[in-house]
Amino acid sequence: MNTSNNRPFFTGAPGPLAVPVSPYPPPGSPSTVIEVRPAGYMGLGVFATQNILKGTRIIDEPPVFTFHSHLCEDDEYGGGISGYASDDSDESMLDEGVSMRNDNDQENFTDQGQEEMDNDEDMNDDDEENDDEEEEDAYKGSPLPATVFRFCDELLLQGLLDGKLSAMEDLSYSQAMYENERIRELIRRFFHERVYPSQPNCSPLSSEELESKVQQFARLYAIRMRCQYSPHTTEHPGSPEGIYALQARINHSCMPNAWHDLNGATGRMTVHAVRDIRAGEQIFVAYGEYLRRTIAERNAELLQMDEIQGCMCAMCLNPYTDELQAQVYRLFWGAFYFLYPDARDVLTETMDVRAAADAAEALRMAQAAVEVLKNPLMDAETKVLADTYRMCCFLCQKLQQPGQAMVYAGLETSLQLIIRGVDNPNFQEADARFRDLQRL
Ligand SMILES: [Zn+2]
Repeated sequence: MNTSNNRPFFTGAPGPLAVPVSPYPPPGSPSTVIEVRPAGYMGLGVFATQNILKGTRIIDEPPVFTFHSHLCEDDEYGGGISGYASDDSDESMLDEGVSMRNDNDQENFTDQGQEEMDNDEDMNDDDEENDDEEEEDAYKGSPLPATVFRFCDELLLQGLLDGKLSAMEDLSYSQAMYENERIRELIRRFFHERVYPSQPNCSPLSSEELESKVQQFARLYAIRMRCQYSPHTTEHPGSPEGIYALQARINHSCMPNAWHDLNGATGRMTVHAVRDIRAGEQIFVAYGEYLRRTIAERNAELLQMDEIQGCMCAMCLNPYTDELQAQVYRLFWGAFYFLYPDARDVLTETMDVRAAADAAEALRMAQAAVEVLKNPLMDAETKVLADTYRMCCFLCQKLQQPGQAMVYAGLETSLQLIIRGVDNPNFQEADARFRDLQRL
């Protein structure tokens, strides 16, 4: 269904809709409402050049680079390269382990890194790392050979070094990954084992040329670790991880004024304003899924995954928000596990949550979660609120309350439009549900 030229029209949706009247800029056109410039201690950032209305599409861009890490189920590299361990386990675990979570591009790294550390022992023989570097490895996680080899292969396949490198080369990167000598050694081996044997007529690189290539690849690997966007595996099945040059420039806040999301239909990254933004304001998105976690947990993850020292957003500066987060956590998952009891097997981290006993209690919990999410201290006008509205809708349907179900479907639809836009499948799905309920 191509609705990109139509404005949404769910006239029955409750409450006023803060939808901008201006159309989206055509895909691929340079955004005129933002610019990239220095952002103090944050390095570079993205700033509004004019007042931006809530719901405006700020960015709509294709990936510069994609990496099919979670699609590598075959054994092309794992075990196929002499002496290299297979890392298939980390990919399958990634798919199964996080598929029920929300957009958690950061957590993928956590799982992957841990699994890689667990499976990494046979690579230690020829390591020359000192204690400091080993400590760093233990902290960051070391990539398995097959992961590095796949990455290098994709770099060559996508012609990045010739064509698109300039779009990526000024992106921020993980210093620890860039300086990781094990990664460099693996990249050297990649050239020796994969590039030279398959191209017997090519004259080998001089050692200086090789080192220059190794540095380039290591830098891109480090950029990938910092900047890539990992799509949610159930919402975007089969979608690769990607690096989006402009979106990757946006800094983090736990109370963001914008929402970034992969459009599963177009394969493009979109960023939408989730509240009105004044000219000159910096654009922020939330890295990973930060709602329902404590300040300490969020900051530990930001440090580990993004090397960010302490978020300074209003939520992180107010310890009371931890209590609100805890309430949302208990209420959201209590309702969720009533609707999806099987998910409990996967989401062991929330085992301490008590599932609602019946649909009526689940609805009360979801409705209470909505109230907390709407607290200005949380300012959580995000996907979590949309998800909670959807749960309320499903629970009202279970309780034979079609009128109330329609109200919640309309609320979700309004929010999906703001955070994802009219051409996004998640919006279209919510909109279709709302229309179906209207017809009842
Ligand atoms: Zn914060």
